[in-house]
Amino acid sequence: MRYDSRMDTILYRDTRGLDPMPRSFTDTVLAGIAPGGGLYVPERLPSLLLADILSLARLPYAQRAARIYRAFAVDVHPEQVDALMDAAYGPAFNDERIAPVVAVGADIHVLELWHGPTSAFKDMALQCMPLFFSEAISMRRGAGEALDDYLVLVATSGDTGKAALEGFADRPNTRIAVFYPADGVSDVQRKQMVTQRGENVAVFGVHGNFDDCQNAVKAAFADKDFASRLHGSHRTQLSSANSINWGRLLPQIVYYASAYADMVASGAVVAGDPIDVCVPTGNFGNILAGYYAKRIGVPIDRLLCASNENNVLTDFIATGAYDISARAFTTTPSPSMDILVSSNLERLLFELTLDPDAVRAWQASLERDRRFVIDRGTFALMREHFSGDWVSNDESLEVIRRVWNEHGYLLDPHTSVAWEVAERLRGENPVLVVSTAHWAKFGADVFRALRDLPYTATLPEREAALGGVALLAEVAEMAAGASPVPAGLAGLDELSERFATVVAAGRDSVEKTVEGWLADSR
Ligand SMILES: *Cc1c(COP(=O)(O)O)cnc(C)c1O
Repeated sequence: MRYDSRMDTILYRDTRGLDPMPRSFTDTVLAGIAPGGGLYVPERLPSLLLADILSLARLPYAQRAARIYRAFAVDVHPEQVDALMDAAYGPAFNDERIAPVVAVGADIHVLELWHGPTSAFKDMALQCMPLFFSEAISMRRGAGEALDDYLVLVATSGDTGKAALEGFADRPNTRIAVFYPADGVSDVQRKQMVTQRGENVAVFGVHGNFDDCQNAVKAAFADKDFASRLHGSHRTQLSSANSINWGRLLPQIVYYASAYADMVASGAVVAGDPIDVCVPTGNFGNILAGYYAKRIGVPIDRLLCASNENNVLTDFIATGAYDISARAFTTTPSPSMDILVSSNLERLLFELTLDPDAVRAWQASLERDRRFVIDRGTFALMREHFSGDWVSNDESLEVIRRVWNEHGYLLDPHTSVAWEVAERLRGENPVLVVSTAHWAKFGADVFRALRDLPYTATLPEREAALGGVALLAEVAEMAAGASPVPAGLAGLDELSERFATVVAAGRDSVEKTVEGWLADSR
């Protein structure tokens, strides 16, 4: 039965004002993006009392998450929310605190979001969202709707694919197929994916780079014939799991409230006093969740947006002009932040203006001219909350070495960007640096950092000859006392590779591959 949570359910509208219907939480999870290309945002926000936030410190993380979902009045029965959160935030994490706050040095606090099964912060959302996805389908079937199964189709440059596989593996009513560029992922990233367990998963390499891979998958999504063949022959509908899904954003609001409660409990901040948070930013999902946390009552003062050499957001926050018309994409040691169009920024623009017409005009301008400029009022509002800065490739590696030498704490190249920006922009408030990956996900660049090599240096012959996993063992020896290589990475070479197929790039090839897999696995 569909849960009728009385009148207080929070419904969702889209940022461009093009979906005529307000949607429930589970509707937004299944839909992902709104018709017309807008993103779903809550019609109103809950407001939490300080005492509610502080009381989270006494609860296990799963119950903290359930409390926040309850505050957002999601249309899933509260007991079921509890059960799903217990399933999401349990033994799959290698720290029972799930998202612990660690004091590093005297006055910086690090929120470690990488204790999940794939050692990157995407797990915080992707261990949770697929459970609600399956639940949304079974709620609708229980209510008598004849709903297809869903096939989640992912093009990945590395981290998202693995986190999505791990999240959807063996979830009822769903399958997941991941396509990765055969020439474009690291040894460790490839092994993480092709050793994936689960009966409902498949992983395919694509001849080409990430662009080839992404274009082929996008074209398959856009092909109506493909959709009707999947429905007709396999009772299956396509879906995506990318970070514009509200179901990925809500779990990220949880850890800001959780972290504040922990900081008060440990004496790092006086109850009610503000903190600043500094977030290594790509698609703007993580920092946006921090903004929503502030709006619902978590005492956050400034949101510090940290970028790498792809620094379009730094310029936007400084000037109000989002301009990629003359901007080339740069590769960096923090690939998960290598992005030109930060999709979730659209949600912030809506929240600041509550004006779907303005949002639509800016997005149209971005598509047409590769730039848009916000008005002075919206700019001033944004500046009340956000500051930004960026860090060069070589400096991000220098920061890893410096923090290791000074504090004995080993950062990954994404978190090091945030660390540096936090040091530059911080004021009087205690700072929470959001750490998005375990160092071992980026072993080669951490090796360069510890050896004082620039980002562009080729590895010494000996290290270049090592497999990715062996290199991690060597880095761990150089940095004795750092957080050890997570079991999921250290044990990769012992797992057997289940998925060896590499297919041609292009829409038809991807479609044929998916249909072949569905036919074989019936
Ligand atoms: C995805 C990712 C980011 C960027 O997060 P957004 O929500 O896209 O801004 C930063 N660091 C790591 C390690 C990531 O995987």
